[in-house]
Amino acid sequence: MASITSAGEAVARIAYLASDVIVSVQSSLSADSDFSQALQHSATAQTRNIVSKSVPQVQSVRHNVDPLLSVYQPAREGRLTSVTTDASVLLKSIPHLYKLAKLPVVIHVSLQPAGHPDYSDVTSVRNTGFAFLQSHSLQEAQDLALTAHALAIRSGCGVIHFFDASNSSKDQPLALESRDTVQQVLSVNLARVEQSPQEQDGNIYVSQAKSASATPISQLVSRDAPLRYDSPSRETGTPKGDSSSASSASSQRNDSHSEMSDADSATTVSSNPAPAGSDDLDLICGNIWTQIQALTGRSYAPFRYTGPQNAEAALFLFGSNPGLFSKELDGAKDGDFYARVGFVTPTLYRPWIPQQLLKALPLSVTKIAVLEQIKRKTTKWGPVLMDVLMSLKSDSNRSKTPLVVGYQLGHLEYSTITQALSGIFQNLRSQNPIQNLVIGARPSAGLSVSRPELELQQPALENAYMKILDQVFGRRLYIANSLKASHAGVSATIKGSPEYGFGSLVARTEHRRRFVAEVQAAAKSKSFITENPKKWLSQWALVADQAKAANEIAPEVISRLSADGSPLASKLLQSQGLFFQESQWLIGSDAWAYDLGNSGVHHVIASGENVNMLIIDSTPYSERAAQDAARRKKDIGLYAMNYGNAYVASVAVYSSYTQVLQAMLEAESFKGPSVVLAYLPYNRENDGPLTVLQETKKAVDLGYWPLYRWDPKAEEKGEECFKLDSEKIKQELQDFLKRENQVTQLMNRHPHFHANLSESYGSEVRQVQKRKAKDAYEALLEGLQGAPMTILFASDNGNAENLAKRLGNRGKARGLKTMVMAMDDYPLEDLNNEENVVLITSTAGQGEFPQNGRNFWEGVKNSTDLDLANVNFTVFSLGDSHYWPRKEDKHYYNKPGKDVFARLTALGGKQIVDIGQGDDQDPDGYQTGYQEWEPKLWDAMGVGNVEGLPDEPPPLTNEDIKIQSNFLRGTLAEGLVDESTGAISASDQQVSKFHGTYMQDDRDLRDERKAQGLEAAFSFMIRCRLPAGVATPDQWLKMDAIAAELGNETIKLTTRQTFQFHGVVKGKLKPAMQAINRALMTTLAACGDVNRNVMCSALPELSALHADTKEAAQRINDHLLPATTAYHEIWIKDENEKNVQVAGDAVQDFEPLYGPVYLPRKFKISISIPPHNDTDIYANDIGLVAIKGDDGRLKGFNVLAGGGMGATHNMKKTYPQIARMFGYCDKEEIHIVCEKIMLVQKDHGDRKNRKHARLKYTIDDMGVDVFRGKVEELWGKTFAEPKDFKFDSNIDTFGWQKDERGNSHFTMFIENGRVEDTADFPMKTGLREIAKVHKGEFRLTGNQHLVLSNVAPEDLDTMKELLKKYKLDNTNFSGMRLSSSACVAFPTCGLAMAESERYLPELITKLEGVLEENGLRQESIVMRMTGCPNGCARPWLAEVAFVGKAYGAYNMYLGGGYHGNRLNKLYRASIKEEEILEIMKPLLKRYALQRNEGERFGDFVIRIGMIKATREGRDFHEDTAQVEEDDE
Ligand code: SF4
Repeated sequence: MASITSAGEAVARIAYLASDVIVSVQSSLSADSDFSQALQHSATAQTRNIVSKSVPQVQSVRHNVDPLLSVYQPAREGRLTSVTTDASVLLKSIPHLYKLAKLPVVIHVSLQPAGHPDYSDVTSVRNTGFAFLQSHSLQEAQDLALTAHALAIRSGCGVIHFFDASNSSKDQPLALESRDTVQQVLSVNLARVEQSPQEQDGNIYVSQAKSASATPISQLVSRDAPLRYDSPSRETGTPKGDSSSASSASSQRNDSHSEMSDADSATTVSSNPAPAGSDDLDLICGNIWTQIQALTGRSYAPFRYTGPQNAEAALFLFGSNPGLFSKELDGAKDGDFYARVGFVTPTLYRPWIPQQLLKALPLSVTKIAVLEQIKRKTTKWGPVLMDVLMSLKSDSNRSKTPLVVGYQLGHLEYSTITQALSGIFQNLRSQNPIQNLVIGARPSAGLSVSRPELELQQPALENAYMKILDQVFGRRLYIANSLKASHAGVSATIKGSPEYGFGSLVARTEHRRRFVAEVQAAAKSKSFITENPKKWLSQWALVADQAKAANEIAPEVISRLSADGSPLASKLLQSQGLFFQESQWLIGSDAWAYDLGNSGVHHVIASGENVNMLIIDSTPYSERAAQDAARRKKDIGLYAMNYGNAYVASVAVYSSYTQVLQAMLEAESFKGPSVVLAYLPYNRENDGPLTVLQETKKAVDLGYWPLYRWDPKAEEKGEECFKLDSEKIKQELQDFLKRENQVTQLMNRHPHFHANLSESYGSEVRQVQKRKAKDAYEALLEGLQGAPMTILFASDNGNAENLAKRLGNRGKARGLKTMVMAMDDYPLEDLNNEENVVLITSTAGQGEFPQNGRNFWEGVKNSTDLDLANVNFTVFSLGDSHYWPRKEDKHYYNKPGKDVFARLTALGGKQIVDIGQGDDQDPDGYQTGYQEWEPKLWDAMGVGNVEGLPDEPPPLTNEDIKIQSNFLRGTLAEGLVDESTGAISASDQQVSKFHGTYMQDDRDLRDERKAQGLEAAFSFMIRCRLPAGVATPDQWLKMDAIAAELGNETIKLTTRQTFQFHGVVKGKLKPAMQAINRALMTTLAACGDVNRNVMCSALPELSALHADTKEAAQRINDHLLPATTAYHEIWIKDENEKNVQVAGDAVQDFEPLYGPVYLPRKFKISISIPPHNDTDIYANDIGLVAIKGDDGRLKGFNVLAGGGMGATHNMKKTYPQIARMFGYCDKEEIHIVCEKIMLVQKDHGDRKNRKHARLKYTIDDMGVDVFRGKVEELWGKTFAEPKDFKFDSNIDTFGWQKDERGNSHFTMFIENGRVEDTADFPMKTGLREIAKVHKGEFRLTGNQHLVLSNVAPEDLDTMKELLKKYKLDNTNFSGMRLSSSACVAFPTCGLAMAESERYLPELITKLEGVLEENGLRQESIVMRMTGCPNGCARPWLAEVAFVGKAYGAYNMYLGGGYHGNRLNKLYRASIKEEEILEIMKPLLKRYALQRNEGERFGDFVIRIGMIKATREGRDFHEDTAQVEEDDE
């Protein structure tokens, strides 16, 4: 019986049976490839294929004629097309591969030269979107070729199957494939689905590629092999059960695999049509292998592991001859360096599925050697090393990430393998293993060298891109500004500038142009001796500008000229290099990005010349903010795109290598300027691979460095101009581009449309945009009567903008032609020609202009040619006269308005009326001043007395939004599905708070994104409701998973004893809400004008009393929960639940307690169990003190009311307040009492002024007695006399405590409540591990710490061990740190004025030395910090507090009561760290020396007269230590 002897033959036979068309790539049509004979043999025999029962077409093409071009047509016509080729065509076919990846095309690649091929041929194209399969043995070649075709058919994606034929050259011959097996595995029915014409789209990545078939992927999968893997179908290891299956890998080694559990396997297929992502491909591949195993007994897995299950180390091979390694490892003896070593090779190389690798690799492995057979090494670390490294990093099952060391695999022979392995593992096991050792004969040294050598090779980081250029263009590469010796005398600075290189390139291009002209003349000349040169020269001259064609002909021309020997021929030969079309590049650094308008980059782009620029940016993502703000980098990419004539690509070699290659090829072939921006972040040359990788990842993921390609001429070819290649932000940025007037099409033709993209570039384009916008405005005004009035505003928080718009409308109503614009959108050169201009600006920072007025102000300030003699103008300015308490700072008040008023006057402008000033301190804020000023303006304009002015609609208030929201629906449901923005509407932002979620944006990224023309990085904060802060271990695990999968990987334990997630993007909001619901929790009413999470003292020392109190907290919580069904409709029901009407009048809820407008403001309740006031009852609207009965159980509560923390800086009408005593009530009544207090507030709270709406103001305005009377009236009962109680402190009790039942509780220190993993302290992991075994509860404390609660005596040791293991048992911090607390503030809180959570720990560190020196280390001093006066961390009750005023500046407060019972008072305003330390250090010393026995810090500062005691909120602003200094 016939048999198969080579891998090429095995593969070709399968390809033939599985295809309608086979493109057989050969080096020449007369030379056979590894596959061609077998293909021809079948074709000659007219064998029919299996997929269409017809004779497939075998097309032979030469390898140098762009062979993959032949694939499109048949593939698009729906014919199953495959390619057989060697690896040499891959690199230059990258542009095709990107597109073909979305068609079910199979490419079989025989690596060259067989025996020791260069695997970089494969790694270079790994990101094209193709799936990659690798085979080693003859049998594998047959099976994996079949897998490749089946995978293509079932997924609709392209598949590349590669192998080194020499690996199997000594294998036993193989039986012919079984037609029946092939037929079954190929799923011929599905093949027919594929055989319908395909469409293209612009996707690149597999994980985003759509299924190319018209059938949804889920159907493709489900119609096919069973979804569940039949265990042990995913068994890895050498194929079994077939005598001919001898793999080149040793078959004696024990198979090791982890079988996929039923649960695992059943979960992967979604019921919705979804694109063929990585997981889909993995699943489909698994199904195919299950089938192959059922039919043949041979099994496969994405990664093959062989070796002991307790291996300490592993060898990961990406290269030839696994058999050789495997055999040697098998035979290792105990003392060998490579004893107890496992061996891994990838079978499914792409998509790379980290979980599959982790599954294959025993947990015992702690060190991994990665061998990569890569000859053309371009990056410092090999691609496979990076893959392995990142996979291991994502492993949560290993306590420690294994050490990974990369090696470059040179040529090895049998005789040298022992020595090589010893070298590898000696290095791996050494103290400081060297990365990048070369094993075997150096790849570049040729194959003849057999002496194994170990050498260190570490290419410089920044060389990576140069090497890639070299790889892509080889000899054709010409770098214009390289520092060669011939340039001696020219300074490096000059050579480094774009102008220098550009000049040299232009000269070179000119030179070649002249040479082409010479050749054209020569082609007609009679001076040649032979006739040949003339024909070739004229042929060449025709294609001289086409790189590919010219370079193909050039050698022929040169050889003809050489043979001719005439003087003319010799002369031409002197410049023979010019027969080749060079690939010319200018290489620059990010230094070119400063001052773009004047720089050489601008010069090059503006020239329109065909020049390629590669600009390497090495600023690490984390360092970007540290750059000198005054020398801000401009975005060259956006600049060039705005220019409209340049090809632009943004690439990052450690994010997508293939995209770098693609961009370079495209840049080179683009006729005109090209800019490739290349990212390679590093601090030092010896940065570790993970650092560079993580920096790159952060930059790409966060959109700091998006990967994209922009070809302004693509439109002519019917393609999209803009292709975004980053995976994560793809949707977001693309949506942005779409929304911004379809920039892909419009920008090229109408750059003026795209205002946002070019913010602050100072280019002419920007001018054009401004002009167009203004002209459009003017056209609108045409035909209107009346005087023109141009209103320009600069506004950060919207007040100035709203005022400007309102003024505009009122002006229109008075018959004026008004136009309203942001100052920075206004073309300054028009100012001379205006008739009437009104400027409205608010005040930012230290008296600066708001962001959108800064360029305008710079222009006005510095202009020398503005002549405003014919311009009438005035200014209205908004500010806060008390914002700067020091006399010397007073001039900052309304500074921008005053400055611009003075400047316009100086430029000759005529004042319509005097400047108006709005002051936040006035009774109605800035409105007071405005209402005075506006009528004067109308009078001066002659339109003061106009009859019949229409009524203006009143501004939309929070109260309106609530009432219009239809019981908290708003348009949230619609907003959530709007994919064009990451945000939701302004009213929905208010409504969403009631659902427990706030929209925020990352303030670290705000400016950067604004500068890039992107919308802010919006995400959502989600807050859960967790009455009394008690969570089960299962809930903890679920919270942990939500943070990891849907949030920013951290959990915040809040000051109100609940979980908070940050960084949840809009698309993940609903899944997160559903996941919270599955954890039996809700987020309803966690924020908003309702009763919030009810708090309760955390530590259950007195178990029975505590249990009763917790029950009461739950009862109050449940009783006061809103009744709306909107929450369930919007978040919980899925799409399949019918009849869900989310909006509209049809749905009518009923809120028995709240009614349709809910409360005037938020409402907070907390309960303390004396002696602990860890929940700060005085800070709450209702504070309850649990009173113990004689039986040790809960008897009732002392009820206090009217506490609250929120205040506004310098606004004396706002103040923090402590709750006042109302009296005692029995426990059974407590929820009713709370309800009645809330209802009195609901009806009497101020609904007009949100700053005056909290219960504290209602009570203060009404008086405690009157308010209490109203409550008692509603309740029908009266409060009893309060019972005695005593508090010891308001901080947590750290460490182990035993309760009365004998169970133990451990309060651990979680700094500022942030649960996260860091390299030194894997806190989140530790808590997760504890949650997996803990049988009690977790209790969140009001100080943002955590109690591991109810540990039974028998579990105590285990828990202690676990706490120790994860360093969670450490409570050995200074008393000040343990008593500290900070709110979130930056980067997520929109109200933050200064850092808090990120800064307080640092500040405490700076004080700890003094504490130590003065014996105060153990002393508890309550210190709190917040980023703004909203007071989330209850700063006003701390003994010492810092409240953010401006970035880096804080107001300092002193004298709070240690039990949380007395408010503190302002001691210093707007002080920075230096001053804080100057005050605190001597003060602490003094406290240590002069305090009385047991005297608390807060009491001490009062006794020594530093600060007056605050009795209650209304005297909070009285007698402050820092008196405001007024001018008067
Ligand atoms: S106190 Fe202010 S800055 Fe801090 S979290 Fe609350 S609102 Fe944000």
